[in-house]
Amino acid sequence: MLDVLFPPSCQLCGGETEESGGVCPACFGRLASVTQPFCVKCGAPQAAEAYLNAKGWCAACERHPPAWDYARAAFLYDKGAKDLILQMKYADRQENARFLGNRMWRAGRTLFAADSLVVPVPVHRRRLLKRRYNQAALLAWEVARQAGVSWQPDVLARTRATSRLAGFSRKERHEEMKRAIVVRAQRAELISGRAVVLVDDVLTSGATATACTHALRQAGARSVSVLVAAEVPLQKEVDLAFPILETT
Ligand SMILES: [Zn+2]
Ligand SMILES: [Zn+2]
Repeated sequence: MLDVLFPPSCQLCGGETEESGGVCPACFGRLASVTQPFCVKCGAPQAAEAYLNAKGWCAACERHPPAWDYARAAFLYDKGAKDLILQMKYADRQENARFLGNRMWRAGRTLFAADSLVVPVPVHRRRLLKRRYNQAALLAWEVARQAGVSWQPDVLARTRATSRLAGFSRKERHEEMKRAIVVRAQRAELISGRAVVLVDDVLTSGATATACTHALRQAGARSVSVLVAAEVPLQKEVDLAFPILETT
């Protein structure tokens, strides 16, 4: 019905497309999809299979293994994917979550078990008031729907806005991060023994996902995997010295 009144247009060029919230074939071709070979631990694409060890990890993950079990990204965070994500975040294009969520599900299929629980990375309440919705929760809902598993939007809570950690020592930053994200007491039961798929829009330094993983593990999660719409290319080693928590 709505599609008749407002024919769907490409979210990137405005041209004709099949599905609302999607992109046209030409724009899709320009998006940097993450394809094999990639590191199963951090999701970063590699120039060749030879850069991965027997477990499928890249050299950076071998040196400093991320806390989570596996990570997947649908796209690299460059021009096209960035536009789609920023539109969803700030321009109220919530329909972009359908397209992004679908690509995330395709990229992250192997992360799911029958009893998986999809959980979004939380935003601080103050940001939520400004933006009205958590873009990670929109994506988590869409991913769970596609995967046919359950989701829970309020498992994790951000107890403080941690955007300014610059003056802190490495150890202080680590402690601050640990306190910044918690599992809500009334949801802890849901996490115990569960395979959790943690969803966010962008994976940058990995600091937020690390803090979420620690909180979920502490609540008894059987495994924690990270699934994002886009990953920052040439990612620095996952290192709490670069806690880019909310870049925008
Ligand atoms: Zn287009
Ligand atoms: Zn890696």
